[in-house]
Amino acid sequence: FINFVGGSHGRRLAELFESAFAVMLRMTAWVISLAPIGVCAFMIYATATQGVDVFATLARYMVTVFLALLFHAVVILPLLVLVVARRSPLGFLKNMSPALLTAFSTASSNATLPLTISCVENRAGISNRTSSFVLPLGATINMDGTALYEVVAVLFIAQAMPGVDLTFLQQVTVAFTALIASVGAAGIPHAGLVMMAIVLQAVGLPVESQGIIIAVDRVLDMCRTSVNVWSDSCGCAVIDRLNNESVVEA
Ligand code: ASP
Repeated sequence: FINFVGGSHGRRLAELFESAFAVMLRMTAWVISLAPIGVCAFMIYATATQGVDVFATLARYMVTVFLALLFHAVVILPLLVLVVARRSPLGFLKNMSPALLTAFSTASSNATLPLTISCVENRAGISNRTSSFVLPLGATINMDGTALYEVVAVLFIAQAMPGVDLTFLQQVTVAFTALIASVGAAGIPHAGLVMMAIVLQAVGLPVESQGIIIAVDRVLDMCRTSVNVWSDSCGCAVIDRLNNESVVEA
């Protein structure tokens, strides 16, 4: 409606929103710049109350996330590529390696998207018709790695908190809300961590209990982003195969 009104009124309002956006960005940057101090304080608090054992627990948490991601990436997704897309998973992995390495180093599916599209089309030979639809959609809503990570992280937080014992139904709630939260997460670094607040609240855990895992989130983010991009690419190969088959049948 601002566009409909146009003229000086429209321009003034548009400028007002632009200015509010710039101020909000600056405020967010300021709050984020305090994060290292907050994380440091949280780690000191955790170490003071739980002893240095907290680091061993964190290491076990990281290994759990890493192994779960690895299983998904090297067993489940390649099986789909082999059985449904009828391609060699290893060959497809080689074709996608530049995109996967970029996803690992940037921790952003969205930043990797142009390279994912180029690898899928130019190296794996998938049609632009499929990739231009599946990959942008996948980079936004298909985040297996993020969903998997959120479930492990929330269960870890619940176990680390004294007096919290999640029932079976609450664990199912965690799995379901993590799936929804991963769909809502943006393809940018640490988006999964932000969306985790929804999962924590769904089972009555305080949002600030996340503090303990923030310190190790970057490296896990790099791993789960690679899995997100790998799963988008596998999805693209599957859709391309089904698409081609339906074209041939028609
Ligand atoms: N960094 C992830 C991605 O871009 C999202 C997340 O934080 O889990 O896919």
